[in-house]
Amino acid sequence: MKIQLLSDGTFKLDGGAMHGVVPHALWEKQNPTDEKNRILLGLNCLLVDTGREKVLVEPGIGMGHSEKFSSIFCIDKKRTLLSELANLKVSPSEISYVIPTHLHFDHAGGLVDWSNGKLLFPKARIVVQELEWKAAMNPHPKNQASYLPEFLEPLKKATLELINGDKEILPGIRVSLTGGHTHGHQAVFLQGEKNLVAYPGDLIPTAAHVNPLWTMAYDVEPEQSISMKKVLLKQGVLEKWTFVLVHDPRKPVGEVVLDEKERYEFKAHPSEMSSVGTFHPERSEGLSRKSTT
Ligand SMILES: [Zn+2]
Repeated sequence: MKIQLLSDGTFKLDGGAMHGVVPHALWEKQNPTDEKNRILLGLNCLLVDTGREKVLVEPGIGMGHSEKFSSIFCIDKKRTLLSELANLKVSPSEISYVIPTHLHFDHAGGLVDWSNGKLLFPKARIVVQELEWKAAMNPHPKNQASYLPEFLEPLKKATLELINGDKEILPGIRVSLTGGHTHGHQAVFLQGEKNLVAYPGDLIPTAAHVNPLWTMAYDVEPEQSISMKKVLLKQGVLEKWTFVLVHDPRKPVGEVVLDEKERYEFKAHPSEMSSVGTFHPERSEGLSRKSTT
């Protein structure tokens, strides 16, 4: 039973907004900007086959955007989640769970065809924190541009599993409320054969963001982002977790190590791997609350 890396294409966001208070000169090398000061970002999703269920960790940015929206965010759909699923001979109606880390458009937009409001995974339960759902339904002006009615309105007719805090969704698949980026942001943990696969969402969007202090200007609780990243990184290094970074446009699968100056560094797995690892639900007893608290 495999954990596979899928892509929903790429898009771009303002480089400054992606790095918060970190000076441009420090991050430019790792995340170079285009003529409009935007940086390239991946939309990396995971397909987990448990043998009984097919689970998607994040559905990407979706389809059916207006031309204006696609051009502002430079959405490139040479690869799409749906075509990658089709290549694996997986039909969208076979997906029984979708777990977005939060409900910003680049993390939950892929649940819906924006042009007609159709749900793209019609039989899936959408697992999201109740806090996040409430924030999306009544967004604060700071986040209004990320929570858009084009995909959120249709989600009202989806099957939602609203949770509070940490929960094992299926044996070996666990979510943890992290807060930080949004109040209801959650990280996802999968029990692999050798180690845990961590999907920290927008807490660590690209390899450059493994520095705990490099948080996004979008974050609603930057201090919480820093604290939670420190907890995740410390344990991830200790237990040699495999990290999958949602927005890294190059090689998003790897490990985090401490360099000689005690700084965290993301070591990408060398090849463009579609197979992230093997899923092992029977080992999930090791996946306890201590993983993230
Ligand atoms: Zn994002």
